[in-house]
Amino acid sequence: MIVQGVVLHSRPGADTEPVAENFLLEDINIADDLTTGQVRARTLYLSVDPYMRCRMNEDTGAEYMQPWQLGEPVDGGGVGVVQESMHCDYVPGDFVTSMTWPWQTTVVIEGELIQKLDSQLVDGHLSYFLGAVGMPGLTALLGVKEKGHVTQGANQTMVVSGAAGACGSLAGQIGHLEGCSRVVGICGTDEKCSILVKELGFDSAVNYKKETVEEDLRSCCPDGVDVYFDNVGGQISDIVISQMKPNSHVILCGQISQYNKMVPYPPPLPAATEAVLKERNITRDRFLVLNYPDKNRPGILQLSQWVKEGKLKVRETVVKGLENTGAAFLSMMKGGNIGKQIVQVSE
Ligand code: NDP
Repeated sequence: MIVQGVVLHSRPGADTEPVAENFLLEDINIADDLTTGQVRARTLYLSVDPYMRCRMNEDTGAEYMQPWQLGEPVDGGGVGVVQESMHCDYVPGDFVTSMTWPWQTTVVIEGELIQKLDSQLVDGHLSYFLGAVGMPGLTALLGVKEKGHVTQGANQTMVVSGAAGACGSLAGQIGHLEGCSRVVGICGTDEKCSILVKELGFDSAVNYKKETVEEDLRSCCPDGVDVYFDNVGGQISDIVISQMKPNSHVILCGQISQYNKMVPYPPPLPAATEAVLKERNITRDRFLVLNYPDKNRPGILQLSQWVKEGKLKVRETVVKGLENTGAAFLSMMKGGNIGKQIVQVSE
């Protein structure tokens, strides 16, 4: 059977921005007959995520991620509906997800690599399993809980960078839910700042593309910063860390500003920032959502409950069509998304 798929056509090079030509839409031949243990599913939604930039390189720089292979279909988070099953756990009509879902209109995938989804957890809004009630939601929740040292009633100020994105937009709201008294977002446009404050309940927001970012942040955090949820790294993080209090905490979630550079992860910090961390006894442990498998299920249930109760507001940017998946990835890497960037492949 011939289906459409997106393959990795070329690598951008570790030190360069990726371009549209790195991806190619192709006809892909998938098996007509399933073998035992396999499932055929129609793709509904695909996720594009910053970590995929590392998978475009020959060496991802991380042992838990494999590079995408040239000429092979790209894969990542996906949600689909089972059409045919040779696996005892799945029947046609089941909604399923995988972290290794090929960018194809229809996939044949090993049953071992997928998980069944309960659409009631998201009130039928299945793309949420790739965002607020999926990996990015868990990243925000577990990042705050495991590394944030947030305490109810402690009058803490949290700053979130990459605040209008998938993880950041949730991390700030979770900061409030967990007890921070003030949550400040940093993001790349005035429109995003306005959405953070008016829709998502952030107390204030700073546009990092303005020259006044340092003073803007200081006026939003007059008492200094207790918790910093860091999605971006680089200069923005140097500024935030310079305004952190003694014994405060950085949640080292991601460093997207450095992903088009050939640097190790986490990238080295300027000496002045290292000195601030040391002098003020600021913790900055690396956080990886994959390291908490036992907290996955309870975390998803918590996120689902908050979303249903309206306590966690969800934003998505949805583009339609498998052929636009590469473009959606490139757009997300440059800030084209508000909330989670999703690709809708079929209805
Ligand atoms: P987002 O939805 O936040 O999308 C990426 C955003 O990054 C863009 O919208 C853009 O917003 C911002 N951005 C891009 N380039 C820069 C730059 N040079 N400086 C500042 N901001 C920039 O992505 P995710 O929520 O999926 O991921 C956010 C971070 O979390 C990433 O660093 C990712 O690697 C990390 N992550 C970590 C996990 C973990 O287990 N530790 C798991 C999942 C994600 P803007 O308009 O504001 O520039």
